Amino acid sequence: MINVALDGPSGAGKSTIAREAAKIFDFTYIDTGAMFRSLAFKALRENINIKSEEGKVEAMLQNTTLDIARMDDGQHMILDGCDITGFIRTPEVSKAASDIAVIPFVRQWLLEAERGVASKCNCIMDGRDIGTSVLPDADVKIFLTASPEARAKRRLAELKEKGVDVSYDEVLAEMKYRDKQDSNRAVSPLKMADDAILADTTELDLEESIALVCDIIRKVTH
Ligand code: C5P
Repeated sequence: MINVALDGPSGAGKSTIAREAAKIFDFTYIDTGAMFRSLAFKALRENINIKSEEGKVEAMLQNTTLDIARMDDGQHMILDGCDITGFIRTPEVSKAASDIAVIPFVRQWLLEAERGVASKCNCIMDGRDIGTSVLPDADVKIFLTASPEARAKRRLAELKEKGVDVSYDEVLAEMKYRDKQDSNRAVSPLKMADDAILADTTELDLEESIALVCDIIRKVTH
């Protein structure tokens, strides 16, 4: 199996680039952020205060099933038997996902699931700690980044296209909040693995970013 780990901060373009690269190499794309988002969505729906009620989050997990379904339009998240894919991209869920991702037993709960899917297929897995923690032996490790302003602009365009009504300032503030929390948490912080290759896309458009990532994968796997 060939495993590609693609890590980096929010809005660096990981998911779009990973999806396109996966098509080119005929690999499975696995979006681990969607797994954290799904658990955060359930906690919000159950009115759990993620930051102060870790016990409730733990109890919730004991009563939760999370599956990934592959559909024509990509990865769908099935939470307790329901497809919740359409509900996990809002700024509220983004923030809650970063909050829930701080909790060690949440990360442990998802680790098994992440490793399980990667062991069954050639994949490109995107996240924050794939190269450092989830798949430390991945064949290719890429750390994808861009300036916060470039990332906020791209995320804003993405959200607008989905009909989510937010301003640039809100998106930039949410991104900085998540960057800070994701990079400073005690367990599996967002950090470039020592053996990862850095890909900075600040000055690149989408096509150029995809080409850069595909070149890295080709060079390392051939
Ligand atoms: O990638 P995405 O923006 O969907 O991730 C949502 C949140 O989930 C991130 O801000 C991060 O806190 C968390 N996450 C993580 N580890 C991963 C993937 C996502 O901590 N492997």
